[in-house]
Amino acid sequence: MIKRRKTRKVKIGNVEIGGNAPISIESMIKTDTCAVASTLNEIKKLKEARCEIVRVAVKDSDAITALKRIVRKSKLPIVADIHFIPQLALDSIEAGVSAIRLNPGNIKRRQDIELIIKRAKEKKISIRIGVNSGSLSVRASTVADSMVKSALDYIKIFEELKFRNIIISLKSSDVMETVSAYRKMSVLCDYPFHVGVTAAGPFLTSAVKSSIGIGVLLQEGIGDTIRVSLTGDSLGELEIAKEILASLKLGSFGPEIISCPTCGRCEIDLKEIVDDFKERLKELKLENMKSSLKIAIMGCVVNGPGEAKDADIGIAGGKKSGVLFKKGKKIRTLKQSEFIDTLIREIRVFRR
Ligand code: SF4
Repeated sequence: MIKRRKTRKVKIGNVEIGGNAPISIESMIKTDTCAVASTLNEIKKLKEARCEIVRVAVKDSDAITALKRIVRKSKLPIVADIHFIPQLALDSIEAGVSAIRLNPGNIKRRQDIELIIKRAKEKKISIRIGVNSGSLSVRASTVADSMVKSALDYIKIFEELKFRNIIISLKSSDVMETVSAYRKMSVLCDYPFHVGVTAAGPFLTSAVKSSIGIGVLLQEGIGDTIRVSLTGDSLGELEIAKEILASLKLGSFGPEIISCPTCGRCEIDLKEIVDDFKERLKELKLENMKSSLKIAIMGCVVNGPGEAKDADIGIAGGKKSGVLFKKGKKIRTLKQSEFIDTLIREIRVFRR
């Protein structure tokens, strides 16, 4: 059981962040914000994939016009991502967003920050202080220290104005810098953290860097909401984020599949079976299943019976066949062609 860092509770719309609330998943919309229909469509898909918060880029006044329509129709709370132009933060708050992300590296004038805080306070919305190693304006001995100093300098202004609806992020594209910055910051304040590795690259690179960076921090109890950065489809970000949370038992997003890598002993077509099974699972729409369900599909008798017995439902492969186990009990022998239908049938029974 992971002991989580004690943080104050902050809300983004109806989503609670920190204060022991479940760790939420955020993503960033990749369409042009002005393309309202496509933006809303992406938000809808992300919600179906169990994203809980979305951030949209607000880069000019046209985006503000679109933002008003997006906020009205979005089924997820919207965070406006602001850089360079403080007025866009004020206009976004007026447009009804649930939170603002400010970058201390490019919104720097104290009077601008104060005005944004004042408006956010009036509307009772939160502000993420989103420090990024790629746009630092503060220098200390290491990048991690610079990120922490940048956040602390900003927080000071917020606290002087008695604004504590704050979420902090300290992202670098370097995993160890990211981990180091969050670790240092975790003992300096009790604000909740939005955790992620920035500019993490294409799918495989992002999956590995994000899993290590976010995973290490979450395992240490650091992190209240997460975002996976991916050069690719935002649904891919969700896939990785859900796997990270599920692996650490910090979230449940449908059945966990245990399958072996296969080797020369394997006498079933395990890869095809697992691929087909994953496709068939989609029919069952189990993403919102409350209880966890472990399904093992294993290649042979070496580790197969052990893993299959340990799972809720398992198959230990033999010669074009396999033995079905349920809750640790051996049920019967199946032909390979019966594997998938049998598993789907058993899952339906389990779900009742
Ligand atoms: Fe090979 Fe059997 Fe282990 Fe799978 S379970 S990797 S087939 S030894």
